[in-house]
Amino acid sequence: MPRPRRHRYVQSAFEYDYFKPCVICRQDAEEVVLKMEEMESMRLKDYLGMDQRDAAREMNISQPTFHRILTEARSKVACALVCGRPIRIKGGAYRMATTSARKFKCYDCQHEWEEAYGTGRPQNCPKCGSANLHRAEDDRGYARGGRGRRGR
Ligand SMILES: [Zn+2]
Repeated sequence: MPRPRRHRYVQSAFEYDYFKPCVICRQDAEEVVLKMEEMESMRLKDYLGMDQRDAAREMNISQPTFHRILTEARSKVACALVCGRPIRIKGGAYRMATTSARKFKCYDCQHEWEEAYGTGRPQNCPKCGSANLHRAEDDRGYARGGRGRRGR
């Protein structure tokens, strides 16, 4: 059993999850599977031109880990370009970095509200005072802006 990996933060849900060379004879080419965090590492470093230390911090990982992910990403993309293979973007050990708030819901009065990250779990419903709370269904880590798709 590999040890559980820390989730890497991914800021954006990408606009597409499949990238395909426009060549009919390559239709049967084997897919290259690019993980979400690999895509994100290229977005930060190669697309945005971010410095590696800042990019690693954005993703909540160490610089060596970032470097390893980025190297893997570049190698996969190079392989796809050179060999004309389609790229499927999926999976990985990541969660969406929800920047502002978490949603909570009260079981008793159905009130829904948001709490900023880093403030801890609220104890009581701000409306009725009930302690019967739960995280709202649509925010289980990376729902915001995403399509409810899980990593892995
Ligand atoms: Zn309530």
